[in-house]
Amino acid sequence: MEPLAPRRCLVCDRPYAAGETTCGNPLCNRSDRWFQWNFAISMRTGTLKDVINRYKYEGQWTWAYIFGRVVAGFLDEQADLFREFDVITASPTYVGTDGRGYDHTRMVLARAAAEVSPGSVWPFDITGEPLIVKTVPTPRMVGHTYRERRDIAEGPLRAALRVTRDVRGMRVLVYDDVFTDGLTLNEVARTLRRAGATEVCGITLCRQPYRGQALASCVETTTSLTLRWPIPHHRTPAATNRLTQDPVPILFTGRSST
Ligand SMILES: [Zn+2]
Repeated sequence: MEPLAPRRCLVCDRPYAAGETTCGNPLCNRSDRWFQWNFAISMRTGTLKDVINRYKYEGQWTWAYIFGRVVAGFLDEQADLFREFDVITASPTYVGTDGRGYDHTRMVLARAAAEVSPGSVWPFDITGEPLIVKTVPTPRMVGHTYRERRDIAEGPLRAALRVTRDVRGMRVLVYDDVFTDGLTLNEVARTLRRAGATEVCGITLCRQPYRGQALASCVETTTSLTLRWPIPHHRTPAATNRLTQDPVPILFTGRSST
């Protein structure tokens, strides 16, 4: 597993080039980002990339045992950061006709629950109906341009997401296997925040390597943005949790831990 770059964006883990101080990922600079940050365990390269593909696309579901163990170890290792969350749920998957054969994200959380250190208890959402579900299959995000991916996310994906129980006041950590540019997590976070969750962050097995120009060309201006409150770039855990009557996207926040 390839580690993340030592110098990188603490919202999305994109490596900074020499002399770079702001992130080239469009979502890190957009006014409608609803999650605070995503923490990837490693880069999506090499063997890990291969086995995730076998797990997701070739039915080799027993990799959930390994991925679950990796996630459990990472939670315990970064416990100071992750302990603030009230629930750890899976990024929703549609299982059934035109969808997947099994819930590949939730299965990893179920294995993680079995693999945590003795005495270590995490609030995994692994029994009953998931906290957030995808009600219909949606187009795959892979193999599209950024613009197309954004259209899928804000169109059919947004329309398909549904929160199944009361999340008001909750801090939610969303697990997924791959973080690319955050468009999926942003829609999941938007749905949860609009349902009353006060904070949404992500944890992923890996981060897709940065695609340079493809993303850089999509960076949008930030000069017209109006911040609702000042937020430090490197926050401490739980430092920015607050309940607002009108949930607003989050800007310019990153986690404190690397
Ligand atoms: Zn970023």
